Amino acid sequence: MMAPDSLSFASLGSGSKGNATLISDGETHVLVDCGFGMRDTERRLARLGLHPRQLEAILVTHEHGDHIGGVGALARRHGLPVYLTPGSWLSGRLGEVPRHHWITPQARFAIKGLVIDPVTVPHDAREPVQFRFRAHDRCLGVLTDLGHPSAHVAEAFRGCDALILECNHDRNMLAEGPYPPRLKRRVGGDWGHLANTQAAELLKGLGLDRLQHIVCSHLSEHNNRPELVLETLAPLLDGDESRLMVAAQDDGLEWQTID
Ligand SMILES: [Zn+2]
Ligand SMILES: [Zn+2]
Repeated sequence: MMAPDSLSFASLGSGSKGNATLISDGETHVLVDCGFGMRDTERRLARLGLHPRQLEAILVTHEHGDHIGGVGALARRHGLPVYLTPGSWLSGRLGEVPRHHWITPQARFAIKGLVIDPVTVPHDAREPVQFRFRAHDRCLGVLTDLGHPSAHVAEAFRGCDALILECNHDRNMLAEGPYPPRLKRRVGGDWGHLANTQAAELLKGLGLDRLQHIVCSHLSEHNNRPELVLETLAPLLDGDESRLMVAAQDDGLEWQTID
C-alpha cells in the first residue's frame, strides 16, 4: 500500500501495449499516463487498492497510444482533470475531457502536496515530457520514452531517491528481431527508445548512491528480456541488486515507498 507522509509509486503495467504509473504522497494520488482500456484500468487500479475517483488527476507524458489510449475515457467517466502539454493536446487523441491544464515543459507546478517538474525528452512525439515528483523531502523520477540520454535529461534527473527508467531494448535483439527495418531505425534512433546499455550509461552519469529503487520499465516484448536488463544494470550496483526491479506489462509493479 502507499504510505502516509512519504512518496510512493506503483505501476499498473508497463510496455509497448500500455503504460500507467501511480504516484502518491499518501493523500494525493495521481496517474501518469493510461494506455489501458477502461475496464482493464479499473481492474488494475483495484489491484493496487484504488478506485478511479480517488485519483486527483491524470498527467500525460505524450500522445502515443500506449500512454494516452485510455486517458480520455477514464477522465470523462470519473470526472478527472488531465494535465498535458499543448502539443500532446493538439494531437487530438484525447477527445473531450472535463477539465484540462497546460503543462509548460521545465515549469514547476503542484497538485496539492505533489510538486512536479516536467522535463523535455528527445522522443518522436509533438511535445513530450517526463516527470520528476517531490513530496515529503523525497524525489522520484519517471523517465521512459526517450531516444537517448541527453545532457538536459541527465541534469534534470540528478539527485532522485528513486527512478522509473526505460530499458526498452537490447541492441542485438532489436537488430536480429522481427521488426521491419524502418521500425528498427525508429526504435533504435535518437528520437525513439532507450536501449539497456543507454539506460546503464545514464544511470552511471546520475550516480547510484542515492537511488533506493530503480525500476526498469517499458521493456519491449519482442526486443528485450528482463534477464538481459538485469544483466546489464546489475554490475553498477555493487552487489546490492535488491534495489533493482522490473515493471511488467501484465502485472505492473506493486506499491514501493521511498524511505
Ligand atoms: Zn511508450
Ligand atoms: Zn512514446
